[in-house]
Amino acid sequence: MSEKQMLQFVRVDKQMPEKRGAGERKEDFHEIYKDFIEAKAEEQASRCSQCGVPFCQVHCPLHNNIPDWLRLTAEGRLEEAYEVSSATNNMPEICGRICPQDRLCEGNCVIEKGFESVTIGSVEKYITDTAWEKGWIKPVTPRVEREESVGIIGAGPAGMAAAEQLRRKGYQVTIYDRYDRAGGLMIYGIPGFKLEKDIVMRRYQHLVDSKVSFELGFEVGKDATLDELREKHDAILIATGVYKARDLGGPGSGLANIFPAMTYLTASNRKGLGDAVPDFEDGTLDADGKNVVVIGGGDTAMDCVRTAVRQGAKSVKCLYRRDRQNMPGSVREVDNAEEEGVEFKWLSAPDGFLGDNTVTHVRAQQMRLAAPDATGRQKPEPIKNAVETIEADIVIKALGFDPEDLPTLFDCPDLQTTRWGTIRVDHRTMMSNLDGVFAAGDIVRGASLVVWAVKDGRDAAEAIHSYVQAKAKAPEKVAAA
Ligand code: FAD
Ligand code: SF4
Ligand code: SF4
Repeated sequence: MSEKQMLQFVRVDKQMPEKRGAGERKEDFHEIYKDFIEAKAEEQASRCSQCGVPFCQVHCPLHNNIPDWLRLTAEGRLEEAYEVSSATNNMPEICGRICPQDRLCEGNCVIEKGFESVTIGSVEKYITDTAWEKGWIKPVTPRVEREESVGIIGAGPAGMAAAEQLRRKGYQVTIYDRYDRAGGLMIYGIPGFKLEKDIVMRRYQHLVDSKVSFELGFEVGKDATLDELREKHDAILIATGVYKARDLGGPGSGLANIFPAMTYLTASNRKGLGDAVPDFEDGTLDADGKNVVVIGGGDTAMDCVRTAVRQGAKSVKCLYRRDRQNMPGSVREVDNAEEEGVEFKWLSAPDGFLGDNTVTHVRAQQMRLAAPDATGRQKPEPIKNAVETIEADIVIKALGFDPEDLPTLFDCPDLQTTRWGTIRVDHRTMMSNLDGVFAAGDIVRGASLVVWAVKDGRDAAEAIHSYVQAKAKAPEKVAAA
């Protein structure tokens, strides 16, 4: 296809894959977008103007070669498009589904003023879904097997991406995870209507088939100390994510039926996976028929409100202390939630919880935004005597996450952390202050995104390889493959 046959943005409008109607999608936990058909993916890819300086690529954390795989898709050369797309990303079909594209690649697509961006994420998903379907994705078989081993703590996207990259280089890799399934927040945090679980399980199986060993239900700090694992492996990667929920005090905050977001989402995800979940089955964590109030304005809050809708809640309200323009969550997710019947209470902050033993109401203080401070952000401040009382049978706190105290948890007081509790690494080598102990993903950045975890996992794999090679100094120890 010539360049002339690209640049179709002047003729073809932007079109996302069809979204299921709100009435239908509220009834289940399946993804809300239908698949692109081949012709539509080709047509949408052909809208790309093949920019000389592709800002989409610059703003993709993985610097994916977007213009090339769009052109190959438009030309119907999907297997080559898959090769290009998978060269920089270990889970393109997952990023294509859940990256906040409006803030990353698509938000920086500069076709031309007046024309909407290329649907980059949907095409990326389409390419790799097709690759799975057609059997183009094969287990990793390294050219040579190395005898050195790497232990990875955490089977989230950072740990999984690092494991695949290290296997490509021939390392023996073991991933330890305290959960019973691999995937980290992609399994127990993010709900199925954004990312169906079999998509994540397929990536896990791919690693198993590539001879990555998994020790699930293995909690470092309980089942082994960090030092014990360091004895066992040539290098260690800590990719444990951040899980300590930020809390909310105030009158009544100790009442029953006020839950942290992850407690609520994990129960719902486990239920969907077919696990026995007593707290859900006895109704405690099931929103069916209840008035639900979610506190927070990020993507975790959006996942909670939309989960409550699907569980059959009587009403779902979201309280956020700033306004719509200043919320951290993605615009697309707020739109989806509103379509599904969620009511947003902007400029509202909880001021207390009412009830005898169990919460019955939330007292919501009305706020206004003050003049911007030195950082340029408008601080919310309460409006005198403006308080509303909202009915609530369940309250979910989605206020963000901090790291757990890893030096104590891992029985390793020498492990250095930052003042935020994240692991301190040398950003050139990704190594902590402990020799041969590396770190990646949310435990280094703080709560972030899957695409950044993948990027960090890949970088950590490179850094570990350089470290092991430098240590060996002598010719590589190569065992018979
Ligand atoms: P995690 O995914 O958290 O994985 C860490 C793993 O380490 C876990 O499996 C955990 O069990 C394991 N672990 C922890 N401690 C130990 C221990 N002591 N021993 C053994 N194992 C341990 N990002 C997006 O890009 N798009 C989204 O739409 C999106 N939605 C989100 C929705 C929710 C509700 C949440 C909470 C997050 C969302 N994110 C989203 C963020 C994204 O999920 C994370 O940034 C990403 O998963 C971080 O990857 P990670 O590998 O660093 O950590
Ligand atoms: Fe866009 Fe995310 Fe894909 Fe990068 S990985 S191209 S940011 S959807
Ligand atoms: Fe194509 Fe948009 Fe990227 Fe330009 S910025 S190369 S038009 S996708």
